[in-house]
Formats: sequence, structure tokens, C-alpha cells
Amino acid sequence: MDLFEHEARDLFARHGVPVPPGEVTTTAAGAHAAAVDIGGPVVVKAQVKTGGRGKAGGVKLAATPAEARAAAEAILGMDIKGHTVHKVLVTAASKIADEYYFSFLLDRANRTWLAMASAEGGMDIEEVAATRPEALVRQPIRDMDLGRAADIAVAAGLPAEAADVIVKLWDVFVAEDCTLVEVNPLVRTESGEIIALDGKVTLDGNASFRHANRPFGAAAADPLERAAHDKGLNYVKLTGDVGVIGNGAGLVMSTLDVVAQAGGPGPANFLDIGGGASAQVMADGLEIVLGDPGVKSVFVNVFGGITACDAVADGILRALGMLGDRATKPLVVRLDGNNVKRGRQILVEAGHPLVTMVETMDDAARTAARLAAQGA
Ligand code: GDP
Ligand code: MN
Repeated sequence: MDLFEHEARDLFARHGVPVPPGEVTTTAAGAHAAAVDIGGPVVVKAQVKTGGRGKAGGVKLAATPAEARAAAEAILGMDIKGHTVHKVLVTAASKIADEYYFSFLLDRANRTWLAMASAEGGMDIEEVAATRPEALVRQPIRDMDLGRAADIAVAAGLPAEAADVIVKLWDVFVAEDCTLVEVNPLVRTESGEIIALDGKVTLDGNASFRHANRPFGAAAADPLERAAHDKGLNYVKLTGDVGVIGNGAGLVMSTLDVVAQAGGPGPANFLDIGGGASAQVMADGLEIVLGDPGVKSVFVNVFGGITACDAVADGILRALGMLGDRATKPLVVRLDGNNVKRGRQILVEAGHPLVTMVETMDDAARTAARLAAQGA
């Protein structure tokens, strides 16, 4: 789960990483007031969960509160790579002597943590990595102390004084259960301080139970994803128009593939209802999927195992009963596996007006895509 810059800054501050004073606001008047509070020149920064804000015009220096107001007026509502700006961060402007890049991340391929550092901060680190790989130092990390941090700093051409901030960034990474802590730029100011001028943090969602009181993250996630999480369902929102419900992550992933192949806008979500597939779980799943206004049809793809197809068929019918008027979109159901004949028979006999039975996955995907196109 990615954080906004201002949320990353809050975590940095909690662990002693120096950040310039700043305030978040959703209005131009708020930016004016923040600039008055801060005093002196400020930077007005779009808060969106994507990089390259500077290049897109989403980061503006303002010498006066009036300029801060004008900058916020220009930035609020802006679209940056498909993200609309709803809030800005106003920070005291720093006088930059040098810009560096620094990050800690989880290196899954090598089963380790990685520190990455470069004296060529500020710009696209992907570009540095691609064009001048020797300028980006990468070191596997097992643990951290001041000596280790100084080694990394010096290897990358950062001042040795950056070691203290590097240790504190490691504290953030470990204590807050992050998979990424990235500072670009980490700067040395004209007065010689090392401070984090930007922050990108990705939290490990599997550890969020350890941070129940954290004021952000969960609240920032998609509301349907939150509702699904609260119901114990594995749901990921996608951009297409065919809702997908299946049992087992592998089956649901292949279902996404066949729906994508069937043409049209493709799958609207990933939803794995797991092995049980009881009426309640099916109703919960349908409710989440039908809550997405982008969904025009739903493909229910279940392989009967321990929970046999007849129980799943009953579950689907009872779920539709529970949902009543809230079930509005056509359902394409493909059942296979344990007790499949009985399961199909139950659905055929029920003759529910919303339900179409299809025997194969490919046919079901095509039918769902066609029904979605008709309903769009
Ligand atoms: P990004 O483009 O989304 O990565 O946003 P950043 O927060 O990294 O800001 C982009 C650039 O704006 C930085 O690389 C700096 O060059 C510049 N910038 C940001 N804050 C300040 C500041 O306080 N003072 C000065 N002089 N430049 C800043
Ligand atoms: Mn940046």
C-alpha cells in the first residue's frame, strides 16, 4: 500500500528523519495560511501517489503567501498521470546545495533487503540506473548501524554525515513494516544539513495488523477493497466491466486471463471467495462486485472441491435471494468439479432470470463480455 508524500513525512518525522516544516491543505486559502504560518519562501506540492510531480508542474516554489495561493490554485485539480490532485503539501523551501537519491527496499528475487544510493538525485532514478548504472550503488542489507550506513554513503558519493539519516530511514523501514522507503531527493542544504525533501513509502499490507492505530493507509485504499477486506475477502479492483468471482487464487487469475482474451474492457476485479463458497460468502462477494458501478456483468467461476457444486449452486441462489433488489446485473455461472451435474441441475431448475449457465470457461468469458457490452 503506497502512501502520500505527507504521510511518508509523518513516518519520517516519527523516527527522527529531518523534514522541512509543512502543512497539508485542500484549498488555495489554506495554502496561503500555511505559507503565513511557515514564514518565508515555501514549496507547494501536489499530493498524488505517483512520481514525476515536479516535471508535471505539480511542485512550485512560492516566495510569498500570495504566490503560494496562486500555486495551489494552479495545482489543485490538476491531473498528474491520471491522478487528480485533491490536496497540496506546503513546506518551507530549502536552499539546496546537493541532491541525492536514497532508498531501502525489499529485494524479493535475492531474498534480502537492498539499499540503493546515488549522488545523482533529483532526477529519474530509472534513467540513472539505465544510462549510468555505476552511479547507482546497490548493497544488500541484513542489519544497520552508523558504520554500515557511512560505508553506503561514501560508496555512493554521499557525504559521510548522511549516515545518521540513513540509520533513521532504516528505523522507518523496519519499525513501520515497509517494503519501500525512498527519498529522492535527499539533500544537503547550503547550511550543511541533510534532509528528506521527498518521501515515497510502500507499507507491507500483510503487517498492517501491527499498526492498527495508524491514521492512514487503510483509509486511503479503494472503498470496495476496504469493504472486502473487512469481510475477509481477497478483492482487487481492476478497470474493466466484467465482475469476476471464483474460488482459489489460481482459478481466479486464469479467469482474468480468459475474460481479458474475450475482448472488451476486460475484468473489473479479482475476487477469490476461497474454498468455502457458502451462501453468505457468495452474497458478500456479489455485493462487493455489484457495488462497483463499472461492473456490467458478473462471471462466477467455481470449481467444486470439498464444497461440492450443488452446495455452491444453492449458495448462489440463496445469495441472490439475500441481495434481492441489489442484484441487478446478469450472472454467468460456470461450475465444474465435484457433483457438477447436480449443481448445474439446481441452477437450471431454478431458472433465475439473472443467471446464465455456461459449461466451459472460454464460453462463459465470452458470454459475460457480450452481456457486459449489452448492458453498457
Ligand atoms: P517529484 O518530482 O514527484 O519527485 O517531487 P519532489 O518532491 O522530488 O520535487 C521535485 C523537485 O523539486 C526536487 O527534485 C527539487 O529539485 C525541487 N524541490 C522540491 N522541494 C524544494 C525546495 O524546498 N527547494 C528547492 N530549491 N527545490 C525544491
Ligand atoms: Mn522526488
